[in-house]
Amino acid sequence: MICFAKRGFEEFAENIREIERKWQKEWKEKKVFEADPRPDKPGFLFTIPYPYTSGPLHIGHGRTYAVGDVFARYFRMKGYNVLFPMAFHITGTPIEAISAKIRRNDPKTWELYKSYVSLYVEDPKEVERIVSKFVEPMEVAKFFSSVISRDFDALGCSIDWRRKFTTGDPEYNAFVSWQFLKLREKGYITQGTYPLLFCPAEGQAVGEDDIMGGDEIATEVQEFIGIKFRTKDGKVLLASTLRPETIFGVTNVWVHPEGSYVELSLKGERWIVSERAAEKLKLQGWEFEVVRKFKGRELVGLKVKAPNGSEVPVLPALFVDVNNATGIVYSVPAHAPFDYAALMDVKREPEKFGVPRELVETIEPIHIIDVPKYGEFPAKEAVEKRGIRSQEELSKLEEATKEIYKAEFYGGVLVVGPFAGTKISEVKEKVVSWLMKRKDAVPVYEVTAKRLPVRCRCGAEVLVAVLPDQWFLDFNAPGWKEKARKALNRMEIVPEIYRRLFEDTIEWLDKRPCARKRGIGTRLPFDPEWIIESLSDSTIYMAFYTVIHHIRRLKLSKEALKPEFWDYVFLGKGDPEQLSKNIG
Ligand SMILES: [Zn+2]
Repeated sequence: MICFAKRGFEEFAENIREIERKWQKEWKEKKVFEADPRPDKPGFLFTIPYPYTSGPLHIGHGRTYAVGDVFARYFRMKGYNVLFPMAFHITGTPIEAISAKIRRNDPKTWELYKSYVSLYVEDPKEVERIVSKFVEPMEVAKFFSSVISRDFDALGCSIDWRRKFTTGDPEYNAFVSWQFLKLREKGYITQGTYPLLFCPAEGQAVGEDDIMGGDEIATEVQEFIGIKFRTKDGKVLLASTLRPETIFGVTNVWVHPEGSYVELSLKGERWIVSERAAEKLKLQGWEFEVVRKFKGRELVGLKVKAPNGSEVPVLPALFVDVNNATGIVYSVPAHAPFDYAALMDVKREPEKFGVPRELVETIEPIHIIDVPKYGEFPAKEAVEKRGIRSQEELSKLEEATKEIYKAEFYGGVLVVGPFAGTKISEVKEKVVSWLMKRKDAVPVYEVTAKRLPVRCRCGAEVLVAVLPDQWFLDFNAPGWKEKARKALNRMEIVPEIYRRLFEDTIEWLDKRPCARKRGIGTRLPFDPEWIIESLSDSTIYMAFYTVIHHIRRLKLSKEALKPEFWDYVFLGKGDPEQLSKNIG
């Protein structure tokens, strides 16, 4: 497609379009892009991740597929028998959400979809009629997959369309269902209680595609450790941390003086956390009553006992974020730049913070970690090096925190307490289980992302919920990592520098939720109220391109596509004659 703005070029442009149309017609008639196995040529399968089909193409699709098309054509010219197929991804909730809005007569969605359809259809009445059918999610997918195919043809992409499918097709469901039966057989799928991103307004777990800007902001569940600091009358201040090993260097607890806090009555304990934290803990499975609500200032001056036995005061700090985790943190000024800066602030001007001078003047950083190239107090060095003068210099303090975190994680050794002598990179799990055994800590989950707060497409803030009976893929199952490493070693990766990314991912991958209770997709064969989510059903679909056109040609029914069918097709297991009898 070539467009010229100036009138003088119009004739020239029309000539070019004429040539384009002529050859595209010829390609179509001669079926030149329909690739079938040939004994005389080496085969080459080229795929690009299938696009999500909730609207028309954008220029990014055009670019990606144009690049792919260049590759496909290049390899054809090199003598390869190239298969370049394409399909449409429709799994999950976005298309369903669109249909729900059309059904509710949401004016914005109606206008948007009328404008999309008008790109392809001129008659306004016809546009109206098509959009009104979008109350059915499959109609959205059907309409856009068909116009997208035409767009790619207009671009001249050399795609074999006989193999086109959507991830909502019954044949595809049968294929993915087989894949999950295999994964279950191998012990890679398990069920259990698990923290998940959650939309409180809809009462549902949410995935990347339910989150506003979900593909850009890298939203994840982060596990904090909530450490219990006990008051004399048995109440608990729950202070959260990502570095529980620093508990041995605690000098005080921080609260935000203007922040809103609550006292909770749980079975056997009274907890103090921020008001916002209470809402989050409720979703994380804690049962409690809110006893009272008060400002953080009220806690200042209180003495509390840390799990390591030291008695420390509660002090005010402005950097404390009541919206993050429990809204209470403990202070380790020797090894945490924020803590060091806040301690200096309050020691310099105790009156300004409403703190008696004698409460703070004796507080000094406590050295607990030996770090190469740093002295006793790495946080102090990092703060002074940057000329930081107060806890309000956020970006500099964040930079300093990153520096110290890295230096201590990779080079530090704990020198105090029961785990003295252990490397920081290996100590965290040990300290956590020590704290948990003594009932001095609980896990607290929080949402982390490049941009906060994270919002669901419905507008509500995304939180973490701990939900029972979740299904997940277990990448720590015995043998999986070993097999994955071996498979990776057999692969050629271009450019080679990206191999490291795959290797790292294999190492950190743990459990990953693989099914949800709504959306379009394939039902879990062993628990059909669950639907396999949109990344989990998109891992081996390239193999499906090799058979889907045959399945359609032979008019194989959904019932025929039993697990034994796929066992034979992809694994060569079983006897073909017996199989054809069994599946009819
Ligand atoms: Zn929502």
